[in-house]
Amino acid sequence: MIVERFESSLWETSSLLLAKGNEAVLIDPAISVAEVARIAARVSELGVEVTHVLATHADWDHVCGIAAFSSAVATVSEATATRIRANGDEAIAERAAANGVDIAGEPRVDGTFHAGTGLRAGPFLLETLALPGHTPDGTAFRSRELDLLVVGDHLSAIEFPFATSTATYRGTLAALIDLLRRDPPGRVVPGHGPELTAADAQEIAEADLRYLWELRDAVSTGATREAAREAGLAVEPPRPAADDLAQAHAANVEVALVERFA
Ligand SMILES: [Zn+2]
Repeated sequence: MIVERFESSLWETSSLLLAKGNEAVLIDPAISVAEVARIAARVSELGVEVTHVLATHADWDHVCGIAAFSSAVATVSEATATRIRANGDEAIAERAAANGVDIAGEPRVDGTFHAGTGLRAGPFLLETLALPGHTPDGTAFRSRELDLLVVGDHLSAIEFPFATSTATYRGTLAALIDLLRRDPPGRVVPGHGPELTAADAQEIAEADLRYLWELRDAVSTGATREAAREAGLAVEPPRPAADDLAQAHAANVEVALVERFA
């Protein structure tokens, strides 16, 4: 059995190749045409056939390589399918162009599943788990036989939480901490940055949850929205992030303000 992680030069984005026998499954093949071609070349070198392509969520950097694997079944959660359909093709192409990247094409959806149910993808039986917070549609994939947990854009050693809902993100982190404690996998692969041990992943999850609670407490103190915003901006993120993501903390503060003030 084979588990190989590929890393994009943009945001250290993870792509995974899982193979068993002559069948392979890709998760988030990304990002540029050249980087996706490198994954396809490795597939050829191994003499395996990609039967399924999965995505952890519908953000452009995770679904932009699906088009390069036209004979595979593109399988995503119902929530991710809804977002892909709502985004439309242009949104993905625009985001890629804004980041100076050529992509394989528009993502497609051939099949869906409900997160929380088992998923048969080629030779693998995967457990799926809804991880809303970064986006409403995050999905974790777990393979027992590979001792592997893939968590999309949570638990990154090179980013802090980028939340579309701070309340939901806290719930997801609490669930992940519980899982990592009670039922730890051998390997944890986040959407950005290096692979982690369960212990490292748990440490990141706890730091991220502390940060989101500090944010919640800070915006609770201000009497007005403006005072709350200022208090939120003073909270220190748990770790640095890339320069082009420096606005993420300010965006989190706005989301935390919505949680309190509507
Ligand atoms: Zn991402």
